[in-house]
Amino acid sequence: MSTARRTHGFRESVIRGMTRLAREHNSLNLAQGFPNFPAPDALKEAAVRAIREDINQYAITWGAHRLRTVLARAYSERYGLDADPDREITVTCGATEAMIATLLALVDPGDEVIVFEPFYENYGPDTILADARPVYVPLDPGQPLDLERLAAAFTSKSRAIVVNTPSNPSGRVLSRTELEAIRDLCVQHDVLAVTDEIYEHIRYAGEHIPIATLPGMRQRTVTISGASKTFSVTGWRVGWILAPAELTDAIRKVHDFLTVGAPAPLQEGVADALEHLDQGFYRELAHGYRARRDLLHGALEEAGFRSVSPEGAYYILADFSGLAELVTPGGPPLDDTQFAVWLSREVGVTPVPGSSFFREGGGGRSLVRFVFCKTEDVLAEAAVRLRSLGRGRDVRPLEAAARSGLQR
Ligand code: GLN
Repeated sequence: MSTARRTHGFRESVIRGMTRLAREHNSLNLAQGFPNFPAPDALKEAAVRAIREDINQYAITWGAHRLRTVLARAYSERYGLDADPDREITVTCGATEAMIATLLALVDPGDEVIVFEPFYENYGPDTILADARPVYVPLDPGQPLDLERLAAAFTSKSRAIVVNTPSNPSGRVLSRTELEAIRDLCVQHDVLAVTDEIYEHIRYAGEHIPIATLPGMRQRTVTISGASKTFSVTGWRVGWILAPAELTDAIRKVHDFLTVGAPAPLQEGVADALEHLDQGFYRELAHGYRARRDLLHGALEEAGFRSVSPEGAYYILADFSGLAELVTPGGPPLDDTQFAVWLSREVGVTPVPGSSFFREGGGGRSLVRFVFCKTEDVLAEAAVRLRSLGRGRDVRPLEAAARSGLQR
């Protein structure tokens, strides 16, 4: 049987694929970004209570009223961003559904959607599923946004720009000046901003500025976030969208037909967490992540990778060129997939090949991405294994490893 042409235009998720590979190699999975530490008790207890109280049927399709009310309060208090819970907030199955529902609802076939590159790998397929064309603008670790390249990406066909700050995988936290530049272009070209703010509380520098709070942006911004990263519950699939009523009406239609709704008892758990966890929780979250970041970044440097310490989110993009000689002595150039598979198998640490964050045939061939959303014991063990590379540990180069029949 043939399959729909729509799906031919994109690759399957390499991130999820590397998780499977890590399992196969019994290797430390620093590929897919999910925490291995426990979620806050308040959250878990509230969800358990909700199940016991038989909150087990569909919530209202756009989200339990209580959660939407609590979200409206949280956005107002945190960012001065006021939203009507009845007409402007929608609860979704994770930020992933929020993004695809938004693009399907608001983007027409043939429209252009501007995406920063390297990008989180879902955005390309999301755009293609919406029959739109992604237009890429570079956003590199440690580098300011190139405002000229950004301006050149806006055309009469531009419909939306996807903004992800703090950013996966570059680790950039966009500054007010950068966000204002995006704002100016959105206003000038009548373009929507669709912002993925899932890492809003995981920052080491700068402040988190929802672009919707900039003058002129509220009516043209779809703000997306969720519980996954903030409360370490990526498997719960609870995300949300805050958007003007007219845009929300269209998004809700798509959301309803896609998923009907997010898990009802888990929405109660998230509402409780948002209501009861105080500032100390969010401070501690960022604080804990800073220590993990420094541990992994230090180990990568010592191992011989080149990388920039991220300003936010929990990823490090690392250049492995300096280690290529170890892997293919005097041999042909090594690409990112070969290196990632080799590292997974021979060193026992699994990253994601860098090219999966760039367009097909684009950059990332000398990069791999590591996550540091792991407990200190896992990161410390990863650090030991990685550092051994820097000490010229006796590793089997690619050829020998391949000959042993282990290569996939
Ligand atoms: N956002 C995380 C990452 O980039 C998890 C992705 C996923 O598999 N949903 O690794």
